[in-house]
Formats: sequence, C-alpha cells, structure tokens
Amino acid sequence: MKVLVTGGLGFIGSALVRLILDESNDEVLNIDKCTYAAMPEALEGKELSQNYNFQQVDIADYEKIYQAIKQFKPNKIFHLAAESHVDNSIENPSSFIETNIIGTFNILQSIKELKDDLPNDFVMIHVSTDEVFGTLSFEENPFNEESPYLPNSPYSASKASSDLLVRSWHETYGIKAVITNCSNNYGPWQNPEKLIPKIIFNALQGNDIPIYGTGENIRDWLHVSDHVAALLSVGETNEIFSRYVIGGNQEMSNINLTKMICNYLDKVESKSSSYFNQVKFTEDRLGHDLRYAIDASCISDKLGFKPAYKLSQGIEDTVDWYLKNKSWVEMKAKTKR
Ligand code: NAD
Repeated sequence: MKVLVTGGLGFIGSALVRLILDESNDEVLNIDKCTYAAMPEALEGKELSQNYNFQQVDIADYEKIYQAIKQFKPNKIFHLAAESHVDNSIENPSSFIETNIIGTFNILQSIKELKDDLPNDFVMIHVSTDEVFGTLSFEENPFNEESPYLPNSPYSASKASSDLLVRSWHETYGIKAVITNCSNNYGPWQNPEKLIPKIIFNALQGNDIPIYGTGENIRDWLHVSDHVAALLSVGETNEIFSRYVIGGNQEMSNINLTKMICNYLDKVESKSSSYFNQVKFTEDRLGHDLRYAIDASCISDKLGFKPAYKLSQGIEDTVDWYLKNKSWVEMKAKTKR
C-alpha cells in the first residue's frame, strides 16, 4: 500500500506518519512545505526507514503536487497540510486561502487529471475540523454528520471551503473521498501557539497564562493518538463518499482545562504558589466560538471508534511530555511565522 500524507511534519500529520510506519508495511510519501509549523524532529529516526519518503512541496503549487501524485501513485492520500491556527487567520488570512483552499483544489484537480493512473482502490481522506459548523450554545446538541456549515473565523471558513470542494469533486468527477471533522486535538509535539501547550509553556516560564474573555468557552478534546487511529480506520472505508465527525466526548471550558493543567503542574513541578495564579484574562478573540461538541456515535457504530484516552490521563501524559521536552518547546515558541 502506498500512502501519501500532506502536512506530515505537522502536529497531527507527524503522529499519523509515525503510526503508519510503526504499525504497517505501507510506503509513505510525506509532502510538506516546511512552514514555521513543521517539526522534522517529530519524525526523528523515521527518515531511516526504507518505507519513508519526503518531498518539500507547497500544495499551492499545482505542478509540483501534480507531479508528486503522478510519480508516487498512492492508494490513499491523507490530506492534512493546512494553515491551522485561528489567531493567525484573523491577523493574516491570505496564507489560509492559498494553502487550505487553493492547495486542496490543486490536490483534487491532480487526482481528477490522474484518475486513470491511480490504483482502483484510491481514496482521499480529507482531514477537517468541527469548526466548520460554527458555534453551539451551552444547551444545543453536539455537532453530527448532518450539521450545517456556519464557519465564523477565516480559518474555519477556509476549511469549510475545502470540504465543499472535496464534496463537489466527488459529485462531479466521481472522486472517492471521505471528509473527517474532528474536535480539538492535544498531545505531544503540538506547537506552543495552541491552547494546551501555550498554557504549559507560559506556566513553566513564569509568564502570564493568557485566557480569552472569561474562559467559559467550551471545547471537546481528543488525544492526537486517538485521532490518527480513527483516521486509519476511516481510510479503510469502501464507501465512495462519506463524512465522519470525530470527537472525544470530553467537553471542558477553557478555564477548567487551565485549572486541570495547573493542578497537575502544582503536583509534579511544585513552587511556592499555584501556577493558576498566573492566569490573566485578556480581551476576547474576535468572533470567538462559544462551544464545540461532537456526537461521535456514527463513527463509533460504523467503525468501532472509541477514544483510548480519558482527558485527565491525556493531560497528565501531555504535561509530562512537555516537561521532558522543555528545550524543544522553548525553541518552537521562538520560531517566527
Ligand atoms: P499544524 O499546523 O501542526 O501542521 C500543518 C502542517 O502542514 C505543517 O507541517 C506545515 O508545514 C504544513 N503545511 C502548511 N502549509 C502547507 C502547504 N502550502 N503545502 C504543504 N504543507 C503545508 O496542523 P495540525 O494541528 O497538525 O492540523 C493538521 C490538519 O488537521 C489541518 O488540516 C487541521 O485543519 C486539521 N485539524 C486540526 C485539529 C487540531 O486540533 N489541531 C483539529 C481538527 C482538525
């Protein structure tokens, strides 16, 4: 089996590449532009595997991605390459349009042009986010596969646009594809621009721990290892088009999540006062979604998906990982976009 992963040097993509190389004999081609978010160190040692290939390619460059797909002839493409941070999309949306929309278009168009050259079992797994569905009130039912698209940030709008392109390339050109919409991931190797590593990093540095608004915003959290395991089972699908929402069924407000992290840090890296005293509420993010939640019963019923991690255990393991890898986090926090 030949598996092409886009964005395989990112947080989730690198976890997926590690899992494929560790658990199968599949040959992997990792395509990544190597932006500020890329972490070759997350694949240290894997480059020695004869099943691992890497090409530095910008998916916004049609000719390059077309040639990569043409030469590799993958059975599967897991498409994860993206600009992925909401705050960056608010400050500077243009790279989100280039990578998330034009990049996805280039991949779809290459697949369409190369349809007769690709294996019969070819499938594209388009990795997207629950943020495309917009926001929920505290009382509303969680998102599911039927939820309407109502994106609120430039990031979620760009991901929603890419999902719609995938759907239409299936409807119009018969490309076999699955869209996944997952909730917030956490775990090792996540860039400290994202909430959980940002809390840990600032806590350990003795900095303010910035929390938007009042911290009441709720997210559903899924450990990255559970997400990539779900992606592999989605990749086994025989359906010609489908969508799965993926989540951990573990909703928590940002402030309670911060408390959970600080309480654990107080235990394992204690100091004279609690880390939680470093919390500083800041002006709310523009267009800040109040709540995301996922009803994962479809993927659970059809594919037997069940997250292995409980949030409390996952947070402890993640904090332990960041404590062991402090110098990496410090280096990554300094990397400019
Ligand atoms: P990330 O920012 O950690 O990694 C993205 C990777 O894509 C980086 O290695 C980067 O170099 C690469 N990349 C960026 N632009 C590129 C381009 N033009 N061409 C080729 N490579 C490019 O992101 P992540 O958190 O690993 O997210 C991966 C995917 O999963 C994204 O599509 C994201 O929307 C989706 N997702 C993320 C989460 C989450 O909580 N992190 C949740 C649901 C879905």
